[in-house]
Amino acid sequence: MSRAFERFAAVMDKGMALQAAMALFEWDNETLAPEEANEYTARAIASLSEQYREMMISEEMKGAVAACRSEGGRSETEEAMLREAGEEMERLSCIPAGEYREFAKLRAIATGVWAKAKKEQDFRKFAPMLETIVEYQKRFASYQAREGQRLYDVMLDSYEKDFSMEALDAFFGELKEALVPLLRRAQKACADVDSRFLSADYPLKAQEEAARFLAEYVGFDFHRGVLAVSAHPFTTNLHNHDVRITTHYGKRIDSSLFSVIHETGHALYELGIREDLTQTFLGQGASMGMHECQSRFFENIIGRSRAFWEPIYGRVAEIFGEPLKSVPLDRFLAAVNRTAPGLIRTEADELSYSLHVLIRYEIEKMLIEENVPVADLPEIWNQKYEEYLGVRPQNDAEGILQDIHWSQGSFGYFPSYALGSAFGAQIYFHMKKEMDLDRLLREGRLDVIRAYVREHIHQYGKLKTSRELLKETTGEDFSAKYYIQYLTDKYGR
Ligand code: ZN
Repeated sequence: MSRAFERFAAVMDKGMALQAAMALFEWDNETLAPEEANEYTARAIASLSEQYREMMISEEMKGAVAACRSEGGRSETEEAMLREAGEEMERLSCIPAGEYREFAKLRAIATGVWAKAKKEQDFRKFAPMLETIVEYQKRFASYQAREGQRLYDVMLDSYEKDFSMEALDAFFGELKEALVPLLRRAQKACADVDSRFLSADYPLKAQEEAARFLAEYVGFDFHRGVLAVSAHPFTTNLHNHDVRITTHYGKRIDSSLFSVIHETGHALYELGIREDLTQTFLGQGASMGMHECQSRFFENIIGRSRAFWEPIYGRVAEIFGEPLKSVPLDRFLAAVNRTAPGLIRTEADELSYSLHVLIRYEIEKMLIEENVPVADLPEIWNQKYEEYLGVRPQNDAEGILQDIHWSQGSFGYFPSYALGSAFGAQIYFHMKKEMDLDRLLREGRLDVIRAYVREHIHQYGKLKTSRELLKETTGEDFSAKYYIQYLTDKYGR
């Protein structure tokens, strides 16, 4: 490491420390912090976020990056760190300080306004706030846009590079055509599946024990991670020696079981990143889409398969006790794999899930690119649910207000959920050519599967883009066909 790079690394350390502090506050807010702390924590986060911005565009940072760039002989990793720093500096410096601060403040209260409106099932109470957020996001995107680049493409780019509206229109177009009719057929076939035993009254202690058992079985390392409870399950990553996941215990045990597997998938990714990338700009997953690829791969493709459950079902059923104990594995699998289109994305089954995402993508595009008025959104939302999923929300809470994302200013985020599922299916088809996945699962050899994804995906952190990782792992560019094939094979039966 050269002198100049050492200087850069020292400034990067400060940036990473601020990021870790923000992540920890957010984690605390969702898990342990008392209700009254919320507003004050939000202020602290806003202040830290401002400090982070100032640090990233400081003369110190600029000087350190420039000094590195003027010398030669950098490693590939160092080069990538400088690239990430450069992009982050560009992103942060194009927004005027005053607007950045104002938006941080707005963001801190917006989720509260959204939560209240959702509780009262009244979109009108959130609509003015949403209008302001959309204005900010469009303005910020216009500062960042390259010549001729459309605003929604700028937003998409910040979550998933190389997947613009053009690529996503094609992707979602294929999905819509294949999945809407498949869903109608599969729904009829699943109508008789009895899943009542999943919502029986199981003791909390049993649910906690099963969650811990599953996390460990899939590969979560409790020496480098924590499992806690929050309203909505999520993963927080400080670095590859401290990854925190949450779950929730509610009416249905499958909700918690598969959330744990999902978040463990996210955690394995972060835990598997190479040591030389720890606490650097590259020490996190390649993109939102690649992250969802890992979580949804373990949750659905692996976690809902017969082979996964064969060696452990007896043990898990034993933990829960009756009535699960008397339910044969086949009935359990039918229940956790049935498709029943509903209104809520986070509770959606594997088949209808992408249609929930498609609806959000179409609405975001209308909002950002076609200037559709915010007031029209509830009706547009409801119509689309009726058209694609055959269900219609009865109120705003189960319709337009259900997701937190827009209140946080996240536009362009949703497509990564569907892309991730599709990445996962592409990798799965390729893996099957290289190993007998079913046999490995039946033998409980998840270590072999983990080693494979670690070698091909996890270790690189943000060193490569998701498109590059996909191409290097599977030998071909991204294609939606594997995902459609996977769902057709599974639900066409
Ligand atoms: Zn996830």
